Parts: sequence; C-alpha cells; structure tokens
Amino acid sequence: SKTSKHNFGAGPCILPQTVLKQAADAVEHWDKAGLSILEISHRSPEFEAVIRNTEALVRELLDVPEDYSVLFLQGGASLQFCMVPMNFSQGSPKTAVYLDGGYFGQKAIKEAKLFGKVETIDWKQSKTYTIPGSAAYFHCTSNNTIEGTEMFSFPETPVPVICDMSSDIFSRKIDVSRFALIYAGAQKNMGPAGMTLVIAKNTFLDSVKHPLPSMLDYRVYRDNGSLYNTPPVFAIYTAMLNLQWLKKKGGVNLIARENLCKAQALYDEIDRNPLFEGLAPAADRSLMNVTFKIRNEALEPHFLDFAARRGLVGIRGYRTVGGFRASLYNALPYESVTALVNALRDFSNDQA
Ligand code: PMP
Repeated sequence: SKTSKHNFGAGPCILPQTVLKQAADAVEHWDKAGLSILEISHRSPEFEAVIRNTEALVRELLDVPEDYSVLFLQGGASLQFCMVPMNFSQGSPKTAVYLDGGYFGQKAIKEAKLFGKVETIDWKQSKTYTIPGSAAYFHCTSNNTIEGTEMFSFPETPVPVICDMSSDIFSRKIDVSRFALIYAGAQKNMGPAGMTLVIAKNTFLDSVKHPLPSMLDYRVYRDNGSLYNTPPVFAIYTAMLNLQWLKKKGGVNLIARENLCKAQALYDEIDRNPLFEGLAPAADRSLMNVTFKIRNEALEPHFLDFAARRGLVGIRGYRTVGGFRASLYNALPYESVTALVNALRDFSNDQA
C-alpha cells in the first residue's frame, strides 16, 4: 500500500493519509443528496461554505490581518510570475527589485522583464543588500525548492514586499503584515495541485490603476470571493481537509518544531557521514528541501536503488543540481526521516 512508501517528493508531495481518505470518500458521496464533490455546483451553498471555511483556516493558521484578502486562483505559482508585474509594475516608471535566490526566482525575473524595469540582486552571492526606496516592489522567494535554501529573515523596507512562498508556506510562522502580497502554489503544504493561494494587503491591490483582463486582476477575485469563474473545487476542498488536519495537529507553531527536528536529524547524518555532503551553504539550509550528494558520484545510482528497495522514493535531485533532494514537508512523518538516515548510514557502512 501507499503507506509502505516514504515519499520525499518535492511537489506534488505527501499528504496525510487521513486527508487522502476523506478526499476519496468525497469523490464518491459528498453532499446531502449523495452527489460527488466532483459534480456539485461551485455556486451551491455547500461549496460556498467550503471555500469560506478554507479562507477562515488560512486566516487562522497564518494569523492573517483583517485588512488582507485571501484569494484562490489557478495557473500555479508560475502564473503569479507574470501576474505580479502586470498588476504592480506595468506602466510604472518605477523599477521592480527581484532577489535571485535560484531557479524559481529567475523564472519570476524573466516574466517581470516583459512588463517593466527590473533590477536583480543575487542572494546566492550576498545576504546584505539595499533595496532602493523608489522601487515599485521587492520580490523574493522564501524557500528555493530546487537548491534547498531558505530565507530565515526578510528585509525591513518601506517598499512593498512580495514573496513566493510556494514551498514553505504553512511550515513555519510568518508575519504576514510584513508582506504586501504572498503567493503559493498549493501542491506542497496546502493541498493538491490546481490551486494557488494569494494573500494580499487590500490597499496594495487598490493601488493598481490601469485596466487588466479580469482573470489577471486580483481585485476581481477579491470582489467575487474567488468565485468570479469556476474555481478548482476539488483542490480547494482537499486543501480545506489538509488545513483542518494541520489545525488539529496544533497549527503552524507545532509543525514548525517538528519540521526543525526532521531537518536537523537528516542534516546531522549528512554532516557526520563521510560519504555524503550537503549542497546548500550551512546558514541557508532549507528545512523543507534537503539537498545533498555522494562525494563519489559514481555511487549515485547505487544509492538510489538501495533507497528504493527500502521504500524511499522521490529523492533524486533536480536535473540542474544533481545529487539528491529529500523534501520534508509537513505531512512527512519523522519515521520517514529515520528511515532515510538509516539508509545513509547503512549504505555508507556497506561501502567501508
Ligand atoms: N515557486 C516555487 C518556490 C516552487 O517551488 C514552484 C514549484 N515547484 C513554483 C514556483 C512553480 O509553481 P507551479 O508549478 O505551481 O507553477
């Protein structure tokens, strides 16, 4: 069964077994009439309750201030790469400042250049930088999913801060009030793929003065409760179940402690074990995506086989980085980390 696998996939990723079961049940029968969640109207009172409940859970779990909107969109985090500059820099003489933390930040930069002036700061080179006070906004990526690095502090600046939190949202406490807009593809700690979460300060959304296509205008989602068109009903429903699971577990503070323990256990073994080496600079090591390699790269495929025989899946590194990447998202149990740590140790002992 699925439970015998340890799923370290980077996204879509592991979800709690109870959530998968509840979602599966809802596919069969969901509403009072016995209809499936897949065949009910998004305008039904039952689904309206789901979407409002999902919003309430986001607000509660992340402590979202009153003057922020919580929106559900489609198009993944990748659509946000262009929607952000279309809304906030297009037609403006101001420069948008982007932090280049890696692969996804670079994709965001590529899109932003289509709409306005862009200045980039290479976070990989230096952690000290200044954001010009005249910038349209500052954009950063809180967790670099591919490189396995994470931002543990955010700049203090009067400029609106926009953050791609796709791969670490709901994994740790964040101070939403420090951001003008946060976005995240759902398929890591929120739910299945197909939905994008946006949390935005209302005054920031209202600062947009130029006309935009409705589906690319944040205010259209806000003013229609994310029901301007048919939303991704099943993705939102399953996200609701997953956020209920997180709340019941103890919320973001509790999961953050667990996530720290999981990451520490794995990094400790990587540092202790002479066969392996971490890929991220120690101070930037992500708690969500642990990237590492075998010093003798010829052994890589052997370790992947060794791990697969123990039910450890999803640990192949991204093609541009190589090596391995173990993603330790919220739903990954500590036992899975133990199983991986044991595999590193036993594989290394076998080589000796
Ligand atoms: N940003 C980050 C940090 C990501 O991890 C990902 C997906 N792995 C994306 C953006 C792209 O998201 P999507 O596939 O939802 O467009």
